[in-house]
Amino acid sequence: MRVAVLSPVWFPVPPAGYGGIEWIVSLLADGLVDAGHDVTLFASGDSLTNARLEAVYETAPSEWIGHTFWELRHAVSCFARAGDFDVISDHTGLLGLALGSMGPTPLAHTVHGPLSGEPGALYAQIVSMLPHAALIAVSDEQRRPEPDLPWVSTCRNALDLSVYPFVPERGEYLLFLGRMTADKGAHRAVAVALECGLPLKLAGKCREPLEQQYFDELVRPHLSDTIEYVGEVTHGEKVALLQHARATLFPIEWDEPFGLVTIESMACGTPVIATRYGAVPEVVDDGVTGIVVDSWQQMGEALERADAIDPLVQRRIVEERFSPGRMVADYVAAYEATIERWA
Ligand code: UDP
Repeated sequence: MRVAVLSPVWFPVPPAGYGGIEWIVSLLADGLVDAGHDVTLFASGDSLTNARLEAVYETAPSEWIGHTFWELRHAVSCFARAGDFDVISDHTGLLGLALGSMGPTPLAHTVHGPLSGEPGALYAQIVSMLPHAALIAVSDEQRRPEPDLPWVSTCRNALDLSVYPFVPERGEYLLFLGRMTADKGAHRAVAVALECGLPLKLAGKCREPLEQQYFDELVRPHLSDTIEYVGEVTHGEKVALLQHARATLFPIEWDEPFGLVTIESMACGTPVIATRYGAVPEVVDDGVTGIVVDSWQQMGEALERADAIDPLVQRRIVEERFSPGRMVADYVAAYEATIERWA
């Protein structure tokens, strides 16, 4: 199959630091190549891939994130060549879906964000104008607010386990890894660590004005020798932090579409303690790969249960359920369904 994989353009593929979608795009493009497909990846020029790379920007324009002109110029470079491909695997968001579905080539659009509230309503409006729209979800839970959208498949995310070495021994500190927003709950992690009297390492993206404002108001005032912000971390730094934590706290309060951090933690042998929002109960098996609680206030008392989780079992489950091979096979089946829908 001739597949165009269209990445968002703001970060390289794979990303140097923060960037869940770019990791999935990277794994997907390389996995499709390994499976014998002819793959062209549209991403920034500083990306590293086994696919053929097409780039309109030499480096990822991260400083211009959200600017439509940059995003469109990148997406259009793919759509202008649509005739060269059997299918376009689009990961760019609503602009890509709207514009790309008007062309001649079947387009399978992966929804990476939540669909509750306005985003879901906008998706519904846009697909009502597109006769062949084909959507891929990253979890079944993500579809729940909009079950009638033109779904072709759920393709759950995956990890390249070779870059998440497993370490069975656990350390002393709690870990928070994510974006600095109230939805992701770094301030809740701080409250849990203070209550338990345990050290906490916070790692995460804090680049945008709203992230900085949240951090300054709700996280920075609590920093100390034991509550430490280590900044946005690279892949290697992140893996080391995950490997040596006692538990990863995932105190989200939003409709998380998937939550890559949860499976990254399990892969490294560290239990995740997560609040029951969005896809958490679909991704984390309570008592087996992590602990699922109803609210962040229950995280402290869940620690002992988390300590009892067998790291080897966690690792094995990630290998079984979240392998790149499984994800790529799911995507190929979704592409076939998309091509059929367009025929
Ligand atoms: N991440 C990272 N460095 C950081 C913060 C986050 O590498 O400082 C990674 C994190 O490990 C995960 C991704 O960025 O791979 C975030 O994806 P996730 O699905 O957990 O959350 P999102 O931000 O997409 O909602």
